[in-house]
Amino acid sequence: MHESGKLQAKLTALSDVYAVQLPENLKQLEQSFHQLSDTAWEEQGFQTLLRLVHNLIGSGTTFGFATLSDRARNLETYLRQLAQTKAVMDKDQRNHILWSIRELHEAMVHRDVSLPDQSGLIAVAQPGQGIITPRRIFIVEDEQTLAEELKVQLGYFGYEVSIFNTLEDFRFALQQTSDVVVLMDVTFPEDRLGGVRLMNEIQQGREIPIPVVFLSAHDEFEARLEAARAGGIAYLIKPLNIGNLIDKLDSLTSTKLVSPYRVMIVDDSVALTAYHTAVLEQAGMVVKAVNNPFNVIDSLLEFAPDLILIDLYMPECNGTDLAKVIRQLDAFVSIPIVFLSAENDLDKQLFAMGLGGDDFLTKPIQPQHLISSVTSRIRRSLMLRSFMVRDSLTGLLNHTAIKDLLDGEVARAIRQKKPLSFAMLDIDHFKLVNDSYGHPVGDRVIKSLSRLLKQRLRTSDLVGRYGGEEFAVVLIDVDGMTAMKILNTIRDDFSQLHHLADEKEFPVTFSCGVADVSQFPDATKLSDAADKALYKAKHAGRNQVMLADDPFAT
Ligand code: GH3
Ligand code: MG
Ligand code: MG
Repeated sequence: MHESGKLQAKLTALSDVYAVQLPENLKQLEQSFHQLSDTAWEEQGFQTLLRLVHNLIGSGTTFGFATLSDRARNLETYLRQLAQTKAVMDKDQRNHILWSIRELHEAMVHRDVSLPDQSGLIAVAQPGQGIITPRRIFIVEDEQTLAEELKVQLGYFGYEVSIFNTLEDFRFALQQTSDVVVLMDVTFPEDRLGGVRLMNEIQQGREIPIPVVFLSAHDEFEARLEAARAGGIAYLIKPLNIGNLIDKLDSLTSTKLVSPYRVMIVDDSVALTAYHTAVLEQAGMVVKAVNNPFNVIDSLLEFAPDLILIDLYMPECNGTDLAKVIRQLDAFVSIPIVFLSAENDLDKQLFAMGLGGDDFLTKPIQPQHLISSVTSRIRRSLMLRSFMVRDSLTGLLNHTAIKDLLDGEVARAIRQKKPLSFAMLDIDHFKLVNDSYGHPVGDRVIKSLSRLLKQRLRTSDLVGRYGGEEFAVVLIDVDGMTAMKILNTIRDDFSQLHHLADEKEFPVTFSCGVADVSQFPDATKLSDAADKALYKAKHAGRNQVMLADDPFAT
């Protein structure tokens, strides 16, 4: 079934459940009215009644009871006026309310023929599912040695490369998949702009053009222009700077490196929560629903959301109070909080935002609107956050961030009795690289190691730049022996890379120390042990990985 079809089916099922529960909800509402004293004003009881009426406004339309929604809104307006006077209701007023409640009962049978249509719903900017899918690269290049060299070098960075020797094979392969980046030689033996012309023709009629990196021996404006028109996202001059090429490729694939967005929904209405969950999950997000605001704090720490959606009116703890409590937690001072409510009074909305919310969405909310609001909020907040925790040269976590995260992860691994390893890496004789080729070339080497680490480790692992040419890696759910093997493979691959300075190529290596949390059960001991193991690796001749406390490593 198509994704939006699945959502529609889910929504229909939720709506059926809602319809079954409605009589009980109305009965509760009616009871709360009858419990109100007719000799004294009861603020709390009246607020309960208001909330039960209010809940119907947001949920009604969503589940196909638009008339019910409308009538509930009228009754709410009436009740709010009464609430301002705080005077005991007279007979007329009580009768008006009773009559309105009867109207609500009647509205239960006015179920809309069809639910709001979800068929136009498309998943927006769906982030990856937490795994790095190697992006495929197609190379069309008649210089065979260059093509082979590119294949090897790009392979080290996790790219899957195919070389095509005939245009027929290339065309055929493009018909099978379009999730590729093409590296295309500009010049064919018989045609100076043959590669550009070929791509131009292939892009015709494609809704989404295939990204192409053009490779050329000459820098000419005309060729650059034609290349841009043919879907060229880069135009690189031979001899190629591989670092540059990888940068371009990484920037194209970087969206695949993000894990799915995590959203927590806090709403006392189980039915609406289920609905909003279904909508966001369909868009590829991970959702945690909490129906009791008192459980929010525990769930927050465990689930670590990127954004929190909070219903404004809930029993015992309303949304604005909850937002204030969340803001008191250090880890969540800057998390986006979005209120979700049937409140359409602008003053009340603004008031709620003043109390710690970032945005306000009015129920019933269109699924597409919900998805795009949530997505854009999260994207912006992650970007702002990244400025605080990321190293500017490499984009890796900075020293403070990786240390903080290590503390948290070590505590979690010990609590959950799960393995965890910590590794420290340091580039060998790096001073020599700087001295021989200059600081900018040194920077490129640092970047290439950081890219290799990002590519090779899982997105759940944490990679940080610890200092100048030092890196730190937290491998979650990985024991010391396995971590050592993983890092040793990376070490070996890194040592095979050809770094480029002017026309000269040179190799670089790194040394690494690994420690296992089962032997060093706290963050300080663990990082000291990794540091000592690194020191040992240096003294044993560099270009190797050592495991702390390894009985064979003395
Ligand atoms: P060892 O194998 O013992 O680690 O030798 P080394 O030369 O790598 O170690 P050392 O700590 O003596 O030198 C590290 C050098 O790294 C010194 C410093 O100038 C350089 N460095 C630190 N940060 C950066 C940076 O951001 N960019 C560049 N290009 N160089 C840096
Ligand atoms: Mg070093
Ligand atoms: Mg050093």
